[in-house]
Amino acid sequence: MRDFSLDIYRELLESFQRKGYELITFADYCHGRRPEKYVILRHDVDARPQNSLKTAQIEHSIGAKATYYFRVGKESNQPEIIRAIVKLGHEIGYHYEDLALCKGKIDAAYDHFQTWLEYFRYYYAVETICMHGAPTSRYDGRKLWEKYDYKALEIVGEPYLDTDFSDVFYLTDTGRCWDGYKVSVRDKIPEYQDVWAKQGLTFHTTEQLLEALENNRLPQHIMLTTHPQRWTNQIMLWWKERVLQTIKNIIKRLWIHLISH
Ligand SMILES: [Zn+2]
Repeated sequence: MRDFSLDIYRELLESFQRKGYELITFADYCHGRRPEKYVILRHDVDARPQNSLKTAQIEHSIGAKATYYFRVGKESNQPEIIRAIVKLGHEIGYHYEDLALCKGKIDAAYDHFQTWLEYFRYYYAVETICMHGAPTSRYDGRKLWEKYDYKALEIVGEPYLDTDFSDVFYLTDTGRCWDGYKVSVRDKIPEYQDVWAKQGLTFHTTEQLLEALENNRLPQHIMLTTHPQRWTNQIMLWWKERVLQTIKNIIKRLWIHLISH
């Protein structure tokens, strides 16, 4: 099975279910609706939203619920896709990048945030938000919360800020692999990444992840973040994504080297 295809994505979810994990939304987690074994299914809809509809349909077909975070730009924010995903019973959240869009002006960014939160609430009663961590941006969107409080806006959680990572193992497909946190500027959990590595919880391919799952080597509580634009059964798109990501990872590695020296 090709990695990062919809076929292997379905296989991964079904394997979790066979092993007794429930697939839940981030809002479920925030409200304490946590079964004994669970995977919080989080999707950052950075681009190609029609791919997100595909993963949403797969999840729906196996009785799973997931959270989809949408950005304000047209590359993500497609009303008909948002509506279709809501209809399938999933959670919608705001993938915010207001500080970058407002060039670091904190008060303007907070206004912008409120406006767009209202916009997404037109489609769904948004309860959770998640930072979009563009590696090329100088601004870390979470800085907004040093001055303002999203809980005052009836937001119950932000994955990077409201997840107890001493209890929840974090997996992300950033960099189009499962160990891309090494080349990621913001999509990682710095305090725990080394702890997990010491426990042998590092995986590169989805096959390796499936093997660990099969051998009961994965923790009982997991947050799984994917970018559905990477996951496709269309061979031309798949190659395009693979080649582009290889180049991007080289650039990101250089970038991290530069900013950390
Ligand atoms: Zn993003």
